[in-house]
Amino acid sequence: MKALDELTFDNRFARLGDAFSTHVLPEPLDEPRLVVASKAAMALLDLDPAVAQTPVFAELFGGHKLWAEAEPRAMVYSGHQFGGYTPQLGDGRGLLLGEVYNEAGEHWDLHLKGAGMTPYSRMGDGRAVLRSSIREFLASEALHALGIPTSRALCVIGSSTPVWREKQERGAMVLRLAPSHIRFGHFEYFYYTKKPEQQAELAEHVLNLHYPECREQPEPYLAMFREIVERNAEMIAKWQAYGFCHGVMNTDNMSILGITFDFGPFAFLDDFDAHFICNHSDHEGRYSFSNQVPIGQWNLSALAQALTPFISVDALKEALGLYLPLYQAHYLDLMRRRLGLTTAEDDDQKLVERLLKLMQNSGVDYTLFFRRLGDEPAALAVTRLRDDFVDMAGFDTWAEQYKARVARDGDYPQEQRRERMHAVNPLYILRNYLAQNAIAAAESGDYSEVRRLHDVLTRPFEEQAGMEQYAQRPPDWGKHLEISCSS
Ligand code: AMP
Ligand code: MG
Repeated sequence: MKALDELTFDNRFARLGDAFSTHVLPEPLDEPRLVVASKAAMALLDLDPAVAQTPVFAELFGGHKLWAEAEPRAMVYSGHQFGGYTPQLGDGRGLLLGEVYNEAGEHWDLHLKGAGMTPYSRMGDGRAVLRSSIREFLASEALHALGIPTSRALCVIGSSTPVWREKQERGAMVLRLAPSHIRFGHFEYFYYTKKPEQQAELAEHVLNLHYPECREQPEPYLAMFREIVERNAEMIAKWQAYGFCHGVMNTDNMSILGITFDFGPFAFLDDFDAHFICNHSDHEGRYSFSNQVPIGQWNLSALAQALTPFISVDALKEALGLYLPLYQAHYLDLMRRRLGLTTAEDDDQKLVERLLKLMQNSGVDYTLFFRRLGDEPAALAVTRLRDDFVDMAGFDTWAEQYKARVARDGDYPQEQRRERMHAVNPLYILRNYLAQNAIAAAESGDYSEVRRLHDVLTRPFEEQAGMEQYAQRPPDWGKHLEISCSS
């Protein structure tokens, strides 16, 4: 276990130089205070969890202090936003403080979001508000606990610094961890600004640091792109299987590691709704829940375009062709497991589709349905769940097919079935209304609810005594919350 001053830095991205990022110092927040910290994320840096309680922790992650070995940099990138190309974006309010490596030899980027203005702030103030910082923190740690690849969050630091959004709010910072903060948009930036040397340097950097095994392949860049396609297919399959809606799948928010990244007005589905749009500025539903699948491919095509200097168009197309079949295979595998099935049959996809259609038409809670399906033997479970469906006859037809399918799958004792299903079907997810309750309390200075909710969400599959209120469908006020897109 390390103390805060014992972190070891190795700032590999900073060493790429000024064509890739700009040196900027964090702008401190007034009266920094710890809102919440993740012990599990602290363990990634070998940090003793007790250090979160020390004043220097809030000072470091509130922008007041800096390690001598840190080299804070704002990265430059660009990207396609809602389908249109924006030639220059970059870290407008976040800084890569440096890269820390842990005792296991892993490197972790320390990225401080809300750290003040940078050359890439455009019209923004460089700040992040408490509400959005808490949402990013909770989402990162909740997705991780569900087994969905994601950036992590070490802590949220609150403050008394006023920040103007629709109304006056308070500034906060979230310390994000990821093995890399390089986005699709990094490659796009150097491609569209026609800087082939720097683009090659970036590609070498990513290959050496993040895809070293691709070096062994005859075409290392192609192998790397294939790997990125595969990881994205798997990540998006998990989003769809667990009802996660990202909301802003612009290419500057897509990680080259295939991890969930840059949380905005995201949401987990309450009722199943394939057409759900969590981002209220997304008027056309470009990033609606079901569109995430084709958008994943669209984004990979944008990256492929930026990689044309290194890889032939035919090879890129072939690699892109892997996306949908891989996505479908991962998705179906997960959905089979959510249904408690251990074998594969050709018609399983249809069984899933029919169920989702029934859930859609009846507004059935997506998370609780699967959890309850495992609570009891299949025949009893479907009888209990039937009441949630408006089209009961339709559900009965599905239930008969499901029971027959379960029987063909094998004769498992219910205890075993429940255990297997509960291990993939969470009881607790980050529902918007739960986040909202925690935010409202935090905005009035009470951080206990954020901490409790974080704690519950770190063990989403495990029934926790006294935490029933976190496993409920939203109350009426919490059903269609408009999450502000300003952050
Ligand atoms: P996002 O939609 O949060 O991924 O942000 C898109 C771009 O806008 C990124 O380059 C951000 O750094 C920048 N940005 C967002 N909010 C702010 C802000 N308050 N101040 C400065 N830049 C911002
Ligand atoms: Mg972003």
